[in-house]
Amino acid sequence: MNTYDFRSDTVTHPTPIMREKMANAPVGDDVYEDDPTVIELEKLAAAYLGKEAAIFVPSGTFANQLAILTHTRRGDEVILGDSSHILIHEVGAAAVISGVQLRPIPTHLGRMDVKSFHHFIRGSDIHYPDTGLICIENAHSEGTVIDLVEMETIYQIGQKNNIPVHLDGARLFNAAHALDVHPSVLAKACDSLMFCLSKGLCAPFGSILLGSHTFIQKAKKNRKLMGGGLRQSGIMAAAGIEALENMVDRLKTDHSRAQQLGKELSQIPNVTVKVDQMDINMVFCKLPIKDVDHFIQYLRNENIIINPPEDNLFRFVTHYWITDEAIKKLSHHVKNYLNQYSN
Ligand SMILES: *Cc1c(COP(=O)(O)O)cnc(C)c1O
Repeated sequence: MNTYDFRSDTVTHPTPIMREKMANAPVGDDVYEDDPTVIELEKLAAAYLGKEAAIFVPSGTFANQLAILTHTRRGDEVILGDSSHILIHEVGAAAVISGVQLRPIPTHLGRMDVKSFHHFIRGSDIHYPDTGLICIENAHSEGTVIDLVEMETIYQIGQKNNIPVHLDGARLFNAAHALDVHPSVLAKACDSLMFCLSKGLCAPFGSILLGSHTFIQKAKKNRKLMGGGLRQSGIMAAAGIEALENMVDRLKTDHSRAQQLGKELSQIPNVTVKVDQMDINMVFCKLPIKDVDHFIQYLRNENIIINPPEDNLFRFVTHYWITDEAIKKLSHHVKNYLNQYSN
C-alpha cells in the first residue's frame, strides 16, 4: 500500500526520470569548474530568473547563509521578519558564520509592515551598527505569499539606502504561481535570491543562489570557505535541471490539491482551516485532538505520516507524491478519528 507523507515537500524523492538523468550525467570536478552538468544548471537557472549568475549549493540554509556572508561585514545588522526561516530555523548560523546581528521586525502571516519599514534602517549615529542587508521570504513557510508591490517597496527602500535585499525564495515557484507572475518578476525585486530544488521540485539535493556576476564570484570563494566546494556534483545538478525544466508548472496541481484538502477538512465538524494561510501547497488547521501521539499513530497505521502541531496548528503539505487519492484518504481518516475519539 502507498504511504502518504504530508510532513513537508522536502520528503519528495526523485522521479524515475530524474534518477535516470542523474545516472547518465556527464560530470567533472566542480571545484576546478569543469563539471559540465553543474555549469548547465547554473546557466539555466540564471537565464530562467533573469539574473547575471547562479551558484549551486547543498541546501537552502547554505544558500541563505552564503548570501548573508557575501553581502555583509561582521557586526552588520540584518533586517528580517520575526517569523523568517533565517531567524527561526537556521540554528543561529548568521551569528556563527557571518558574525552579524539579526534585527527581527514584526510580521503578520509572514508579511512585514512596509509603512514602518524605513524606521528600522539605521542612521549614522556612532552607537548604531550598520544595516548591511534586508532579507525577505516569499513564499513564506506559513503558507502565505507576499504581493509584488510589497516586495518592490522594500527593494526601493533598500536601493535608496544602499542596502542590498536578499530573497529567501525556498518556494519561489510556488509564490510565482500564487501571484500568477513569471518567477523572474520576483527575482527583479531583489539583489540576490535563492530557491530550493529539493522541496516541491523533487530533486534530492540542492539550492541555487543567484545575483550579479561580482556577487556570485565572491560567493564562490565563500562557498569553498563554508565547505561547500563540491566535486562531481553534476550527478545532483542533473536532477536540478530536470526539476527546473519539467517540475515547475506542475506545482499548480499541488496548490489545487491543497485547496481541495482544505475544503474537505473544513466540512468536518469542529475543524478550523486557516483559509488565510492557503496561498501555496499547505493547509494549516486546528483539530480537536486530545491525544496528539495517539492521533499521529492512528494515521501512521493507515500509512499516513504527519507532523505534530506547531503552536496548536497542524500543517499538511501537498507535493508530487500526494495524489487525489491521498487527499481523500487523509480527510477520510481525520473524520473517522474525530468521530471515534472526540466528544
Ligand atoms: C526549507 C526552507 C529553507 C531551507 O532549506 P533547507 O534545504 O532545508 O536548508 C529556507 N527558507 C525557507 C523559507 C524554507 O522553507
